[in-house]
Amino acid sequence: MNKWHQIFQRNTGLSPYVWVVFYILPFYFIFRSSSTWEVVSGIVMIIVFFVCYVLSFVSKGWLVYFWTSVQIGISIAMTLIFGYVYFSLFLAFFIGNIHNRIAFFTLYTFHLVSTFATINYGFASQNPVFITQLPFVLVCLIGVILLPVNTYNKNKQDKLEGQLEDANKRISELVKLEERQRIARDLHDTLGQKLSLIGLKSDLASKLVGKDPKKAVAEMNDVRQTARSALKEVREMVTQMRGARIEEELFRVKQILKAAEIELVLKEEAPLDDISLISENVVSMCLKEAVTNVVKHSAATQCMIEFSPNRTDLTVKVMDNGVGIGSQMSFVRGNGLRGMKERLEFVNGSLEIQSDEGTQVIIKVPKASKRPVEEKEAET
Ligand code: ATP
Ligand code: MG
Repeated sequence: MNKWHQIFQRNTGLSPYVWVVFYILPFYFIFRSSSTWEVVSGIVMIIVFFVCYVLSFVSKGWLVYFWTSVQIGISIAMTLIFGYVYFSLFLAFFIGNIHNRIAFFTLYTFHLVSTFATINYGFASQNPVFITQLPFVLVCLIGVILLPVNTYNKNKQDKLEGQLEDANKRISELVKLEERQRIARDLHDTLGQKLSLIGLKSDLASKLVGKDPKKAVAEMNDVRQTARSALKEVREMVTQMRGARIEEELFRVKQILKAAEIELVLKEEAPLDDISLISENVVSMCLKEAVTNVVKHSAATQCMIEFSPNRTDLTVKVMDNGVGIGSQMSFVRGNGLRGMKERLEFVNGSLEIQSDEGTQVIIKVPKASKRPVEEKEAET
């Protein structure tokens, strides 16, 4: 909630200075007047209005009410003496920028009523300046009614959007923190205990090696077993941590195609369990984008996804029987295809797009990570 002394927005941008241009206008009205007294009093009022305007921008608390009231008084006087109504627009802008709800509504009502009454009085007294400027006076009145409300609502919306952005940032920070804590916990639980055990057993083995070599060998065997099971657990942990998996992505793909009423034909040639984490991640992302594009752009009735792994690479084809992709300029239009290409290049993969009948997106990635033989043995 805004405090009493924070009723005014601090940063109003350039607008107040742009508005100063309008200060030239009242002089035109004043110098039309014949009496010197009127000219002098007019100049004094403009200067006082200007000073009060600046002061109301920098003041806090009740002073804002005070300076604004002085300005409203001057605005009324200028309207009645010189037929100059436009100061009310300055005030409307200023009042719209007040953040405190009560202060806003008080000053808005006060300003609206006083401007309305003054303009009515001007018309009732057949002020010739009013009659000749009728359209401008009406525009001014509409401004006095709408400008503060618009500005006030816009400021409020900006504030809410700012808060929402902050909240989102905070949430993502918390999610990261939570994930870090989870990883730390898992590491501690899986590795901590096993490493201590390895340490203890190695100590014991080194002590036994002279006295009872057989027992020492048995202890060392235990150490090896423990190390292997730790390795296995770490690998499982990494598997859980890694990002998108093809299997999970395929599940989502099925859902999205079903929702879009596009028939899915899935051709899987070999199990995909010997692909590196990073390649699997990239393939999943590309698969998601390719299928989203089929749903968004192709107007197809069928989508075929084919996985063809060979010894070194995995090729994934996403084909549809839709309208076709048009030209290779498609890369320029959206972020999707470009992003796919960049990701694939990153893992030394490639992207090919064909469009004879429908669209064929051909994704190729190296399987890359051949697990070292010793590790494979260690797992068993
Ligand atoms: P974004 O992916 O950034 O949300 P996008 O989908 O429009 O936007 P891209 O994925 O790069 O961008 O696709 C570029 C263009 O290629 C698309 O605008 C669309 O015209 C065309 N396109 C892509 N895939 C297909 C498809 N399967 N069938 C028909 N047109 C396609
Ligand atoms: Mg796309």
